[in-house]
Amino acid sequence: MPNTLAHIAVQGVANATWQPARYLPWVLLGCILPDVPWIASRAIRFVDPGIDVVALDLYNTVQATWLFSTLLGIAFAAFARRPVVVGALLAANVLLHLLVDAVEIKPGSGVHLLAPFSWQSLSFDLVWPEHPLIGAATLLGVAAALVIIGAQHVRFRDEKLVFSARRIGVAIAALTAYLVLPLMLSGGPWDADYRSIRTLSLSEIFVGNPIELDRDPIVVRDGEAFVQVYGREFRLLIEQELEGGEIVSLVGHLAAPNAIRADDVHVNLSGLRNAASIVGLLAIAVVWIRLLATSLGRPDRS
Ligand SMILES: [Zn+2]
Repeated sequence: MPNTLAHIAVQGVANATWQPARYLPWVLLGCILPDVPWIASRAIRFVDPGIDVVALDLYNTVQATWLFSTLLGIAFAAFARRPVVVGALLAANVLLHLLVDAVEIKPGSGVHLLAPFSWQSLSFDLVWPEHPLIGAATLLGVAAALVIIGAQHVRFRDEKLVFSARRIGVAIAALTAYLVLPLMLSGGPWDADYRSIRTLSLSEIFVGNPIELDRDPIVVRDGEAFVQVYGREFRLLIEQELEGGEIVSLVGHLAAPNAIRADDVHVNLSGLRNAASIVGLLAIAVVWIRLLATSLGRPDRS
């Protein structure tokens, strides 16, 4: 994913061209739905460092597909004044989000638009996350986030959320499906060897297989570089000097059960990207807190 600010910029502009601003909270929600599994994954790993990261990754990969991201969207859309319109809006925005994601070069990654029916991932592989284009979109996102946070008077009165037993029931059903069904579908990304997950998990029997990794951390011990992925460490056979703590994307092959020969290594600048995502998430949270306050507050007199 490009950072959240870049999503806000690109998706905000795309939506502003054709639909009224009252849907802003929903458009912003579309900027994060497919990333929710990855944000949750960080929290889960922090809370339980011993968790089976391979199983967790497969589970999150299923949740990040178009279908399941839309399902999560439906859990929110259930409370919209016009739930069907908002559900369709979210489905379109999740698709837009994933297409924007596919613009970035992410070895072995890509987005799943047809899963669980096909686990072929789609990637346009056009620019690295550090490309000036992403930088420009991020700056536009900063401006948008500042406007959003500053616009205190915007209260979305026409789009107040509606809470009823039936709507809560729909939301719970959608959320349950989002949480439970991916447990049964994780064989999809596994069989497709998404992000080399099967090759690296069963590395003893897959020596020689191609490897594609996206944004995994490097540790250096005794002058040797290792990449940490799926809870394990693989020695990196490369000419290039890497430093501990760097985040790399690479293309290569499995040279031995515990070693990856990398033909192409790209060092990512991760710090700025995380900061940009946190600012973006904050702006989205502010809008949703306002919408909730308006929806739960006393009947409006103004
Ligand atoms: Zn994304």
